[in-house]
Amino acid sequence: MKKQLLSSEPVGAIKSQTFRVYNLRTFFRREPGNLERCPSCGSGIISSEVEPSKKVATDMSDINAVPSHYFSRLYLCSACAWWGVRERWGLLVYEEECDYMIAGMAEQKDLAGKRESQPWRLVLENIDYLSALPLPRDWGDLFGSFRYLLNRPL
Ligand SMILES: [Zn+2]
Repeated sequence: MKKQLLSSEPVGAIKSQTFRVYNLRTFFRREPGNLERCPSCGSGIISSEVEPSKKVATDMSDINAVPSHYFSRLYLCSACAWWGVRERWGLLVYEEECDYMIAGMAEQKDLAGKRESQPWRLVLENIDYLSALPLPRDWGDLFGSFRYLLNRPL
């Protein structure tokens, strides 16, 4: 029998990876900065750039939409198995500004061998961001200021 989740929120599942997808443009008045603390345990976050998801790469190939990709960033908790990926991109022609975060918990087996199996990779290949949830309000405090969001020139 499948493990029941405590929350009634819809949860994505791609080949046994369970995760949630959040839309960061739902309640913040100003764009949140970098994620600084783990939503699961409050520990520090290690962030790095990752290749864009297939969805974002496809949007970027639509030159007529005047796309811009700001970043695709992987967040790993320094203490627990929580992982997240935030992607920020826009399509000027449709006046669409997208800012989404995928949040998941790695299985213990994924953590062995320095997370070599990288569960987010499979998710980034398949994510469509269509069923995104509003970000939980208490997550707002986990983000730093927008000033520090873009740590490299556009
Ligand atoms: Zn954690």
